[in-house]
Amino acid sequence: MEIDFINSLARQSIINLKPYSSAREEYTGTEGIFMDANENPFNTPWNRYPDPSQLVLREKIAQIHGVEVANIILGNGSDEIIDLLFRTFCEPGKDDMLTVAPSYGMYKVCADINNIKYNTVILKSDFNLDVDGLLERSGDNTKLMFLCSPNNPTGNCFDDKDIEKILKHFKGLVIIDEAYIEFSNRKSWLSQLNNYPNLVVLQSLSKAWGLAAIRLGIAYAHEEIINLMFKVKPPYNINIFSQKKALEVLEKLNIKEKRIKQILKSRDDLMNRLRKISVIKKVYPTEANFFLIKVDKPDELYQYLVQNGIIIRNRSREPLCEGCLRITVGNIKHNNYLVKIIKSFVHK
Ligand SMILES: *Cc1c(COP(=O)(O)O)cnc(C)c1O
Repeated sequence: MEIDFINSLARQSIINLKPYSSAREEYTGTEGIFMDANENPFNTPWNRYPDPSQLVLREKIAQIHGVEVANIILGNGSDEIIDLLFRTFCEPGKDDMLTVAPSYGMYKVCADINNIKYNTVILKSDFNLDVDGLLERSGDNTKLMFLCSPNNPTGNCFDDKDIEKILKHFKGLVIIDEAYIEFSNRKSWLSQLNNYPNLVVLQSLSKAWGLAAIRLGIAYAHEEIINLMFKVKPPYNINIFSQKKALEVLEKLNIKEKRIKQILKSRDDLMNRLRKISVIKKVYPTEANFFLIKVDKPDELYQYLVQNGIIIRNRSREPLCEGCLRITVGNIKHNNYLVKIIKSFVHK
């Protein structure tokens, strides 16, 4: 049943695809003299290809999150997974996708690259989901709906009830991008994986784990979705350095938790100080490690900060974000300097 449903969403060419079978997939033993992959016998251990199924790392992630290995696929960053979703489920020139605005920019870039029509429904003025608008906007060829929660750049999480309604009524896959979930108090949608065959949860080691450099994104979904995406992914998409570093850092859950607490504490402190500066009209609430501020002259303030060596994101041209700049929380020294420079802008 569920498998038929998932296959009905996938591209026929992917269902028919016989994937590339690498040497390390044809023979999966770890012992022996390997003369099968045209590798160089010198330069051990870097001469050997990494595990294409990243089994040890996926087992570790499965253990941390209490899910099955079969429900996990890793990407060279979440960005690779977003692209894999398009290539697995969307027929170029025919299918379309849906997301909200404002949200993460990569959804559109990946849709455009894959020649998939990109549709958005603007959030409500309080940044909540327009559930009816989204459901009305989706059609027979709408294969994917991306919901980023906590949402980038607005910082808020969407209501569980709203997401639930979409999961129940939307006919394609619902991808919940949880890149910032660890900074919020919300429960991950991971626990609902078994209730919704159309749910894909995206997470990343780039933010809360502090590992943006190694490029490691994670998707959790029904086994059949994972199987289809595995057919499409490049065999050795996660290099050995990233696999090793991820395994090392995933052991240190307590350090991660400690750093998240530090970031949240200095975020709240920074937001409180910015609220007292008159040039800042509004500091938006957030459940992530970034937040929006509203000012009268966003371009001027942005440039002034750049001139003083501070780079933030100008989001003032996004829907609902007039006058808005997005600030990522730094360390205490960075935050103090930011406050100081913004105060000096007031007095300019
Ligand atoms: C930063 C971010 C990611 C993470 O992307 P990676 O490719 O894993 O670094 C994913 N989604 C959103 C919305 C983000 O802001």
